[in-house]
Amino acid sequence: MRDGPHEPTPRIVSRRTVALATLSLGLTACAPAERAPSGTATPTSAGPTPSSSAPGPSLAPSASPSVAPSSTPPAAGPLTSAPATASSLAYSLTDPASQWVVVNKRRPLNPIDYAPPLARPNVPLEVSGESAQVHPTTARAAEALFAAAAGAGASMTLASGYRSYATQVATYNAQVAAHGQAMADVASARPGHSEHQTGWAFDVGAPGGCNFAPCFAGTSAARWIAEHAYEFGFIVRYPFMLHDITGYYYEPWHVRFIGIEASTDMKRRGVATLEEYFGLPAAPTY
Ligand SMILES: [Zn+2]
Repeated sequence: MRDGPHEPTPRIVSRRTVALATLSLGLTACAPAERAPSGTATPTSAGPTPSSSAPGPSLAPSASPSVAPSSTPPAAGPLTSAPATASSLAYSLTDPASQWVVVNKRRPLNPIDYAPPLARPNVPLEVSGESAQVHPTTARAAEALFAAAAGAGASMTLASGYRSYATQVATYNAQVAAHGQAMADVASARPGHSEHQTGWAFDVGAPGGCNFAPCFAGTSAARWIAEHAYEFGFIVRYPFMLHDITGYYYEPWHVRFIGIEASTDMKRRGVATLEEYFGLPAAPTY
């Protein structure tokens, strides 16, 4: 071994430190490319605005029974014993139009350039264009979620919604050009591997300048989401210290709609990731 005078003793960097360092570098899979031209769009009285290009809010087959918060957990059934098997699944895990589709580094969307029906939810928006839209079912559930959070004094905004395949290609290529592929793979999902492309997920923002940053975890919005999102059919998709399973470091702002029955069942059983819930393999890398 080379005997240098000041060889630093190798310091064991804890996984927690790596997780927080990644966050503080803003290396999250969600930091959006675009922002609203000015100010925040205030919600109008009418419901979600279906985008002109999308077919009317088609609910079947991805419509969950209802988006109203369920106070009583569902009756025992395929959801309450072991992870659902193929035969007991209410929704597909591979069809991007299904609210149970599982997308991760090892499960790209098929077709890779899939585009969902879209609607603009009637909630406070920090973005415009495609990023202000989500799937119509997600939009209705988001309106209920935001209304309840506002009622509890947790002010939230929609900070990033739908991200088309084309937008991802542009974002990812820019990351590769700027930081190289290895860093790009930490900083953003490869095109076709992002939940934002399905319309079932969006990022929550909050006043105070902590969007997509470690300090977001300390906001009343993040605390409220962590405690109540499941009541509206949402989960925090990338929980703390589970990046070995999900492939992404902790993102307290990224929520995914799966329907109230499944989100309540996951909460009740203490299952934190979709991979574990559906008995799918971990996806730490591509
Ligand atoms: Zn996200």
